[in-house]
Amino acid sequence: DSVMEKVLQRRSLRMRNMQRAWQESPEGKRMLDFRKSLPAFREKERLLQAIAQNQVVVISGETGCGKTTQLPQYILESEIESGRGAFCSIICTQPRRISALAVSERVSAERGEPLVKCIKKISFKFENFFILVAVLQHGYFWLLSDHSLDGVTHIFVDEIHERGMNEDFLLIILKDLLQRRRDMRLILMSATLNANLFSNYFGGVPMIHIPGFTYPVRAHFLEDILEITGYKLTSFNQIDDYGQEKMWKTQRQLTPRKRKNQITTLVEEALTKSNFENYGSRVHDSLTCWTPDCTGFNLIEAVLCHICRKERPGAVLVFMTGWEDISCLRDQVKAHPLLGDPNRVLLLTCHGSMATSEQKLIFEKSPPNVRKIVLATNMAEASITINDIVFVVDCGKAKETTYDALNNTPCLIPSWISQASARQRRGRAGRVQPGECYHLYPRCVYEAFAEYQLPELLRTPLNSLCLQIKSLQVGSIGDFLSAALQPPEPLAVQNAVEFLKMIGALNEDENLTHLGKFLSVLPVDPKLGKMLIMGAIFRCFDPVLTIVAGLSVRDPFLLPQDKKDLAGTAKSRFSAKDYSDHMALVRAYEGWKDAEREGSAYEYCWRNFLSVQTLQAIHSLRKQFTYILKDAGLLDTDGASNNRSSHNQSLVRAVICSGLFPGIASLVHRETSMSFKTMDDGQVFLYANSVNARYQTIPYPWLVFGEKVKVNTVFIRDSTGVSDSILILFGGSIDNGAMAGHLKMLEGYIEFFMDQNLAECYVKLKQELDELLHK
Ligand code: ADP
Ligand code: MG
Repeated sequence: DSVMEKVLQRRSLRMRNMQRAWQESPEGKRMLDFRKSLPAFREKERLLQAIAQNQVVVISGETGCGKTTQLPQYILESEIESGRGAFCSIICTQPRRISALAVSERVSAERGEPLVKCIKKISFKFENFFILVAVLQHGYFWLLSDHSLDGVTHIFVDEIHERGMNEDFLLIILKDLLQRRRDMRLILMSATLNANLFSNYFGGVPMIHIPGFTYPVRAHFLEDILEITGYKLTSFNQIDDYGQEKMWKTQRQLTPRKRKNQITTLVEEALTKSNFENYGSRVHDSLTCWTPDCTGFNLIEAVLCHICRKERPGAVLVFMTGWEDISCLRDQVKAHPLLGDPNRVLLLTCHGSMATSEQKLIFEKSPPNVRKIVLATNMAEASITINDIVFVVDCGKAKETTYDALNNTPCLIPSWISQASARQRRGRAGRVQPGECYHLYPRCVYEAFAEYQLPELLRTPLNSLCLQIKSLQVGSIGDFLSAALQPPEPLAVQNAVEFLKMIGALNEDENLTHLGKFLSVLPVDPKLGKMLIMGAIFRCFDPVLTIVAGLSVRDPFLLPQDKKDLAGTAKSRFSAKDYSDHMALVRAYEGWKDAEREGSAYEYCWRNFLSVQTLQAIHSLRKQFTYILKDAGLLDTDGASNNRSSHNQSLVRAVICSGLFPGIASLVHRETSMSFKTMDDGQVFLYANSVNARYQTIPYPWLVFGEKVKVNTVFIRDSTGVSDSILILFGGSIDNGAMAGHLKMLEGYIEFFMDQNLAECYVKLKQELDELLHK
């Protein structure tokens, strides 16, 4: 040990020399000057002192004041300066991969160190969560191979105000761990001012606020925007008449005064006529491209045109709900005569799955006279700071998973943001000079927003989380979660446990089964993990691997707004009449691989409306999954035997069913048009881009699906047709005990659907199964 001590001491000295040399170099000096200009710098001594004297500290401050990039560095620098650099190990968690990358890149530039030393995906025991951590370590980083975080001296949990599930979960663990690791320091960082909540959670620990300077930002709400742009809201009656059809018309004949009066009347009318919810979702859906007709883009485009024509120089940040609308709008803007001119506009996107090269462009200054426009998800709300933003366009919604307790199917819905988020978005415009923010909703709607967003723990299915808790061996799931900042409903926990039992991850006593242990280390949703294992067991691994990778990344099939038909036709070419989006994905992927070999991958993607980036992401996930399954001994080393049955379509279909169950919908009308019902009796429709949506009817009584998306009505995205017998045999667990339980469950469904055919079929199959099981 004393040898080790000496080694570390020597290394600490080296670190000090290097740090001093860097700080005296011209580039290092320049960086230091910049860093000294950040608001956090003025509080440096106070912060260091508070952290030294308290085990837990809560720090808040305006976005961009230097929390993420500076605070860990202050600690590191002071430790290095005092000759203890090699003894300290700092972890800073980031909720998103992309911000972890951006932060570590920035920190490495500020420290004059190569990037690799600063970032590492740390494998916590609960690896599924992909907690990506930027680690500041000179020369090497600590891998957290056990959950007492041995060797870690400081842990920063960033963006806690977001109340992400991973952060809330981490806090439960850390709260307990801190009792045993008295030497370890925990620093919580938050953008907005609900610091009290976190301080109280840790027993009233000190809070420090970093006062920051931002310029004032003028807020324009919908009524102001319509006036500025000259757009006219024709009538709210049209909402009733045409549902999601065109509500916004691009007419410009009214005089400003008349227009303003009309808007006011219309908004008032709408608010008295229907309740806020209705008004809100409808107006909004049309604004953000969630409707098939995309009328809302006219308004965003109008605002962008207005800024480009009339406003002073400065970059524009547009907040949208997700990758789909971002890519839609991007295509539309590119085709626009003014906005699409590369000599005048530099159009960039910022979302969770963008490539690193693309990400760097966001931070760069655009050439003079070229306006930078960044289309972003709410990722740009707090975790990424783009310095030159002067204009913000806020669509008012963010994609949020809501929890559908009845059938445990997550529902991804663009929902209204909170007032705190809206303020945060607005604030992004005042970094360098006074800014302007265009909120695409009326002021009265803003006033009806919730103050803060509901924590993720309370609005997501807990399946994955409960599995992780079980694998951490921390006792009962209920007890563990009751220690959370805001514990989830017991019913939600119970649902998750029931679900895990049903898929065979937990046994009757709520202990992890072999399957469960395995699922807990697979970095995917337990359902998809199970599909993967089934694919391996049934020797149809390759197609299933592609499907699981695809479902965990996102759909590679693009749906550009103006070429929907062409895109749909292109996708249907992959369907080969097997009534499955999942199989279409497999064919598309395989076609891409072939095309790549022939050197025509780009053309192939372009012709078939496929996203190269997504296909590449699927490709790399496939490799990762294969590696994990091989490692676990679930795959034969001989590749061919894993795919002995890959050509067996029914089998692949059955394996898909085994993974996606209980995401099932039954076909209720076959005559004129298809309509489907899910387990919770809800009516659902097929997504426009689904291959199944192109048929009058399908020859299967059931569809299995992975995800429901709510637009105006509820849509199911990717679906595969399955037969009664597949559903009975593969919807649920494969082991006998759970199968019995599952059959009992099916009885309920059959009653529910009153499907005579299925009932008969089921009785017959059950007899056969009983005989089989009792032999
Ligand atoms: P906070 O965590 O308080 O929101 P950060 O530490 O992320 O703030 O950023 C502090 C400042 O560092 C920002 O205001 C910005 O000026 C600068 N900065 C951060 N990331 C980058 C980057 N990738 N490129 C250039 N400047 C950056
Ligand atoms: Mg930050």
